[in-house]
Amino acid sequence: MTNAQAGLGPTVQDAAPGQTGDFYRITDVLDAKERATLARVRAFLESEVAPIIEDHWARAKFPFEIVGGLRALNIGGIGYEGYGCAGGTTLLNGFISMEIARVDASIATFYGVHTGLAAGSIYLCGDEEQKQRWLPPMMRWEKIGSFSLTEPEVGSAASGGLTTTARREGDAWILNGQKKWIGNGTFADINVVWARDEASNQVKGFVVEKGNPGFKAEKIENKMALRVVQNALITMQDCRVPEADRLQRANSFKDTAKVLKMTRAGVAWFAVGCQMGAYEHALRYARQRRQFGRPIAGFQLVQDLLVRMLGNVTATQTMMLRLSQLQDEGKMNDEHASLAKAYCTVKCRETVGYARELLGGNGILLDNHIGRFVADAEAIYSYEGTREMNTLIVGKAITGLSAFV
Ligand SMILES: Cc1cc2nc3c(=O)[nH]c(=O)nc-3n(C[C@H](O)[C@H](O)[C@H](O)COP(=O)(O)OP(=O)(O)OC[C@H]3O[C@@H](n4cnc5c(N)ncnc54)[C@H](O)[C@@H]3O)c2cc1C
Repeated sequence: MTNAQAGLGPTVQDAAPGQTGDFYRITDVLDAKERATLARVRAFLESEVAPIIEDHWARAKFPFEIVGGLRALNIGGIGYEGYGCAGGTTLLNGFISMEIARVDASIATFYGVHTGLAAGSIYLCGDEEQKQRWLPPMMRWEKIGSFSLTEPEVGSAASGGLTTTARREGDAWILNGQKKWIGNGTFADINVVWARDEASNQVKGFVVEKGNPGFKAEKIENKMALRVVQNALITMQDCRVPEADRLQRANSFKDTAKVLKMTRAGVAWFAVGCQMGAYEHALRYARQRRQFGRPIAGFQLVQDLLVRMLGNVTATQTMMLRLSQLQDEGKMNDEHASLAKAYCTVKCRETVGYARELLGGNGILLDNHIGRFVADAEAIYSYEGTREMNTLIVGKAITGLSAFV
């Protein structure tokens, strides 16, 4: 079946590979049903998100009107089984993450925080009753999730340094502390919060439901990247959470790390999608824009930029394809995910920079899309583990020596 037959045309053109960001036809590894899902995702993004996203980005607003459309796509919980989850492979979830980020990295981040970090924490660390209680409404997008790990004073050092505390009082826990940068935090219904148990000194996970009087979320303003994502500064003051809402299978930071390993691979896919979108916009522009009486796409130095971009897109796509296969086979280790996150986000920054260069002055106008990709690449580069942190994880794995301080 061709991509066009699968519904992935006309933007993925079988006759002209290279005019799309899928030069090596990686979508061919998916079966017909998966490709149809991907095509539905693309059609939704192109028709419902692309036309409105620049305006929302400029105003730093989240388009709540698209949530119903996301629900209809039935892509909640791809890669998870049961509990109303869509099921299927991690590889398909990777392709979907790429596809969303190809149009907009903020919407991809919203998807990743809700279905990956938040629902993934419950899926991996909740007990049976908790999974039955929270996952089905999350998979129907009736309840949106957030994930609170980072703190104002503790980012990269979260594994050993969390200062938010949890104190047991009878059948409840009392949480105190602050969390920073929490995606979806201003409006989420189900907030997964990681805090240090005062008694055992171990990190535990808690679900704090919307409306808890001890939980306050303030929007972080003036971001220059992922402006559509609503990031919050969260303050918990004697925030009371029932023991029944403590994630029963999260007993130490090792359990938090299991969630991060899974979602880090998803972020690397976002970095691929972001490059793919920038490349496609740049190629389209180069074919239309004329200087010296001909399209700039006909100049050698412009072709050099396009080919550098396509090389980065293709290299990161094929790397991610293999990483997701390893993940589906249960063979992906932390260092595999970390290498992909570090490498793909470095290449993403480079690719979107080439795209902006190709557009000349028009590259900084939001109307031409590239500016948004350039800015958003900066946040993807830093969140879910900076390049330095992921490098140290890989470095330790390959040398056997830890260079962490
Ligand atoms: C848009 C956005 C969305 C986010 N969403 C969420 C979310 O939903 N939930 C959540 O919990 N967090 C979220 N984060 C937080 C994100 O994960 C952190 O920003 C990230 O982990 C880095 O932490 P930091 O910003 O505190 O930087 P720091 O840890 O202060 O690091 C600053 C610099 O120092 C370097 N550095 C630190 N330690 C070392 C070391 N030992 N060796 C070498 N270099 C080092 C870092 O690599 C970095 O370059 C988000 C962040 C952003 C920007």
